[in-house]
Amino acid sequence: MAHNSPSELEAMWDGLARPRDGAIYRHKNGDNYTILATGHDEETEEPVVMYESPDGTKWSRKAGEFLGTVAVDGVQVPRYQELGIDPEQGRILDRRVFGDPVLREKTRLLSSEEILSTEIAQLIKDIRYTNKMKKAGVGLAASQVGVPVALSVIGIKPTPNRPNLEPFEQVIINPSYEGIGEPVSMWEGCQSAGLSDEVMFAQAMRYERVRAEWTDEHAKKHAEELDGFVAHVFQHEADHTDGVLFVDKVQDPTTFMLASEYRRRVVMNKSAE
Ligand SMILES: [Zn+2]
Repeated sequence: MAHNSPSELEAMWDGLARPRDGAIYRHKNGDNYTILATGHDEETEEPVVMYESPDGTKWSRKAGEFLGTVAVDGVQVPRYQELGIDPEQGRILDRRVFGDPVLREKTRLLSSEEILSTEIAQLIKDIRYTNKMKKAGVGLAASQVGVPVALSVIGIKPTPNRPNLEPFEQVIINPSYEGIGEPVSMWEGCQSAGLSDEVMFAQAMRYERVRAEWTDEHAKKHAEELDGFVAHVFQHEADHTDGVLFVDKVQDPTTFMLASEYRRRVVMNKSAE
């Protein structure tokens, strides 16, 4: 069919703040979306926006609606608000889930040369970005995005629910640990143990203190004693690089529960204490 000329199509954006590719927009419900492209409906030639939601689903919507307002409690608010281009922007990587053999691989150790390579720098950036966009939690291992190398990105910082958390933001490469004392049972889940937010939790046997060793993204070696939540997350993430999953550390299988039940029965009870 005959289309309007490119400049005529361009003019259809007049009066609309055409989103830039790669810009982040926050939906009124709080989720961040990434603009993939803008264009036109082939039939009507109306301007449309194509974008990606935190779970990787891709959408298109009439630009007028995307950039328009919506009534919330009788007040008109923007449906989406521009947050700008994210300097940390990377790619959103597909998360691998239980059953995928890559999660059971003993991953490959990285040499200092590889650690400092642009490929690994890009992988770290993409894992960080995936974590941020999907609010995936405190750690994500390379094997969880299908890359069997001994690397995991940990991002622990204080939250409104856990204001006393000690920050620990580290890329742990070639990690290993040795437990101090006897393991105790601790609640734990895994981003690969389910879809979206509905992941499996259970009580796993973990050490409260560990002697941990790892190399960071600048190829600097670390040897530290870790304790508390940081020690717990370190064990989970270092295990991923060995192809070991938290379910292997569960002694009491009756503790398995999905995240919605875990939040209702365990997290809520804890905060009520
Ligand atoms: Zn995990």
